[in-house]
Amino acid sequence: MAVTKFAALFAAALLAAPLTAAPMPQPVAPEARWVAVGALRVAALHDTDFLIPNDGGTFGVDAGVPAVTAVLAAAGAPTDTVRVGVNALLVELPGHFVLIDTGVGVAASQLMPSLTAAGVKPGDVTDVLITHSHGDHVGGLITSDGAQAFPNAKVRMSAAEWTFLQANTGAAKLVAAITPQVATFTPGTMVVPGITAMSIPGHTPGHVAYEIVSGKVRLLDIGDTAHSTIVSLAKPDWSMGFDSDKALGKVSRRAELTRLAASHEMIFAPHFPYPGVGTIAAKGDGFIWVPAAAGSFTN
Ligand SMILES: [Zn+2]
Repeated sequence: MAVTKFAALFAAALLAAPLTAAPMPQPVAPEARWVAVGALRVAALHDTDFLIPNDGGTFGVDAGVPAVTAVLAAAGAPTDTVRVGVNALLVELPGHFVLIDTGVGVAASQLMPSLTAAGVKPGDVTDVLITHSHGDHVGGLITSDGAQAFPNAKVRMSAAEWTFLQANTGAAKLVAAITPQVATFTPGTMVVPGITAMSIPGHTPGHVAYEIVSGKVRLLDIGDTAHSTIVSLAKPDWSMGFDSDKALGKVSRRAELTRLAASHEMIFAPHFPYPGVGTIAAKGDGFIWVPAAAGSFTN
């Protein structure tokens, strides 16, 4: 039942998306892996994995199922569904525990056990930064009984995204619960010391990435700029069913992946296979994922 409830929230969040089948959350073990970003520490938190049907509704909506199947097969992956991670990022700053996105927030969610594995309690979180307001990023803002999941935190998102979320009638209970916590910003501003929001529009009206900087080291949480390490990177110009503005989504995805392949900047991608930390490299007309070495992480 909880999964059905989630699917309803998720589908409602995707107002204009021609979603043919909801992503299916999969059981995963709770996990937190820490990695250094300069003098800072961040932890990738595993929430769940999704199996997304290869039915033309999500990946390659303008390319067709056979074309998506060919890309998946060439990568040696199953072709009936696309498996993606659902991960959140915890950032330890002086005086702040910052959580970027909150996972699906239902029975399938392992966010809270993963947070515990990182040694952090929900009440310790001072800031929750939201990349965008789809259900797999904001679902964990409330508990199963509708209370604030992070009662001591400011919940920060772009002003455009808060307007978008408030218009989502399927999220009315969540909006009512978090309204006293919400603080909005304009992309381009430093939202907490050391973390700057960057506009990457198209997926949703107010979608942002978060750049974490310590000295000369940086890590970019790309949000939903790309979803699949296989399809989104090999074919960045294919339309994504979850993108509110598909034409703008394509332009933003290619521009950002091009920039990241040139800069070799370390990124965190909420939907790449857990822990979702690595770099982007150019290959042919597309890109490939280079996961960070296992030795980069501590538990
Ligand atoms: Zn997402």
